[in-house]
Amino acid sequence: MDIKKRDLSQFPPENIRNFSIIAHIDHGKSTLADRLLEYTGTLSTRTKAVQFLDKLQVEKERGITVKANSASMFYEKDGTTYLLNLIDTPGHVDFSYEVSRSLYACQGALLLVDAAQGVQAQTMANFYLAFEQDLTILPVINKIDMAIADPERVTKQLENLFDFPEDDIILASAKSGIGIQEILDNIVDNIPAPEANPDEPLKALLFDSWYDDYRGVVCLVAIKDGMLKKGDIIALAQAEKKYEVLEIGLMYPEETPTGALYAGQVGYIITGMKTVKEAQVGDTIYNTAQPVEAFPGFKPAKPMVFAGIYPVDTTEFPLLADAVEKLILNDASVTVEKKTSAALGLGFRCGFLGLLHMDVFKERLEQEYNMSIIVTAPSVLYKVTLNNGKVLDLENPADFPERQVIQQIQEPIIHATIIVPKKYLGNTIALCEQKRGIQTEMNFIDEDRVIIKYQLPLNEVATDFYDQLKSYSSGFASFDYEEGGYAPSDLVKMDILLNGTAVDALSIVVHNEFAYRIGRDLVGKLRKIIPRQLIEVIIQAAIGAKVIARERLSPLRKNVIAKCYGGDITRKRKLLEKQKEGKKKMKQIGTVEMPKEAFYTIMKKEN
Ligand code: GDP
Ligand code: MG
Repeated sequence: MDIKKRDLSQFPPENIRNFSIIAHIDHGKSTLADRLLEYTGTLSTRTKAVQFLDKLQVEKERGITVKANSASMFYEKDGTTYLLNLIDTPGHVDFSYEVSRSLYACQGALLLVDAAQGVQAQTMANFYLAFEQDLTILPVINKIDMAIADPERVTKQLENLFDFPEDDIILASAKSGIGIQEILDNIVDNIPAPEANPDEPLKALLFDSWYDDYRGVVCLVAIKDGMLKKGDIIALAQAEKKYEVLEIGLMYPEETPTGALYAGQVGYIITGMKTVKEAQVGDTIYNTAQPVEAFPGFKPAKPMVFAGIYPVDTTEFPLLADAVEKLILNDASVTVEKKTSAALGLGFRCGFLGLLHMDVFKERLEQEYNMSIIVTAPSVLYKVTLNNGKVLDLENPADFPERQVIQQIQEPIIHATIIVPKKYLGNTIALCEQKRGIQTEMNFIDEDRVIIKYQLPLNEVATDFYDQLKSYSSGFASFDYEEGGYAPSDLVKMDILLNGTAVDALSIVVHNEFAYRIGRDLVGKLRKIIPRQLIEVIIQAAIGAKVIARERLSPLRKNVIAKCYGGDITRKRKLLEKQKEGKKKMKQIGTVEMPKEAFYTIMKKEN
């Protein structure tokens, strides 16, 4: 169907359906989105983009969605043409606020569950997010084509956990194209039309934005009331500025100009915004001629996990600065602060929504910008009360005051939901206890699977909890969490010393009770990872002035060095090349050469 011939004013709210697909990772959300777009002719089967909704490189690699997205399609049923807007949500706990905002633009959701895997932790979390927002939820069991599919078992789970009647559950295979028409018919019949009023002044929700190299910031918007057209002057509730609408249209599935969007519709606008910081997720757009009350529930992005990022080669700081600046053009939720570390020189202290968010940022710096960087161990935001009653918000261990002046430290807590086959329950509980977890709930969801809930310090989860959980459960456990406020805890700052000097970038905050074990562990690992050098290297862990662990790296013997540099010219050149190569991986800390892995990687447990 030629979209240019469509007059969007002909689609009143009653002929519009706005929905999203919610699912645990890998349950087939992107594949189903592709099938729906193909079936309705939005995406041709010949030019089929592999998983249209996953656009970032890292998203494709990890099979996760980091950004929200949207795609429109036209679907005819019983003689009426409907405009269906699929609003994709990020598929990871780090982005739960973004998920809630995208869902706010929808009236319904397809709850997609893998027929072999069954209900997983993110299925639960996403279901409750959608349920709390009063969305109509249509259950779909996907991948029924697979030999190991067990739709009966999954049907029972959906009945038990969420009270879905068996008859309402759609059986589908996004891969083989089974159930696609049934899904579309159900969307039209069962998801309510948006409650939108064409006669009210413009009120639109901004639910995502990204930076396009050629066109600047593109915003995804859901028009609640009124209409928005090219040339309109708009403003945002959370900002001071005014913008002219330069382009407006549908995501069909790429940006397709339509000149206007009407009440109930979902699409994109381009307004000449320069950075995504101007386009905050959850903000309200109105016409400057008629200001309106903002949508409730706006929250500015709040970083949860912090880390230092430094170039391995100090002279590359300007390159790093440039790369970071480009990346944050497209990611409003990263906070960045220039920072000098005594050990690592000039770099940045960055705040992220979560660990995955941090890893994605790090990988993009390495892969897209070819930077060789050091990332320090992730930290969280502590509330430190001093003896004089003053409360400090501190995330950088290097900024912690002396232990004597601290009255109390509070740390952020999360409420974790874990679903695991009962076979791995013992392992999983052991891991949670080891991470200072407090169990709050345990229930069977069927004969085989258990759901357990834990209160866990974010600090313990921030390094590699998820990886460990996967290995403790042979990959079968799923995990999700929500914030749970702050709790006092007996925490101390631990320093790592090389030849007597504390390396600021290696300091961490740990629980007092585990400090000895962690100290011994870290020092032992560093001894293995730091190569022997011309001088002796003493590695120590200390709390204040008290050394709690110590290792010694003996110096290389002189004759070994002499041998290495012996007469041979080609060997010498090879050695020089190797040194140059090594320079990208090694960092000079005082008199000691350190591999870059010594910083963040060393914090992770070897599995
Ligand atoms: P997402 O993470 O929810 O977006 O999941 P994807 O759509 O990326 O799918 C994850 C994997 O499951 C991919 O390898 C898909 O090819 C596969 N997959 C998706 N739907 C089906 C299905 O109906 N049947 C089978 N056999 N595989 C599927
Ligand atoms: Mg996907």
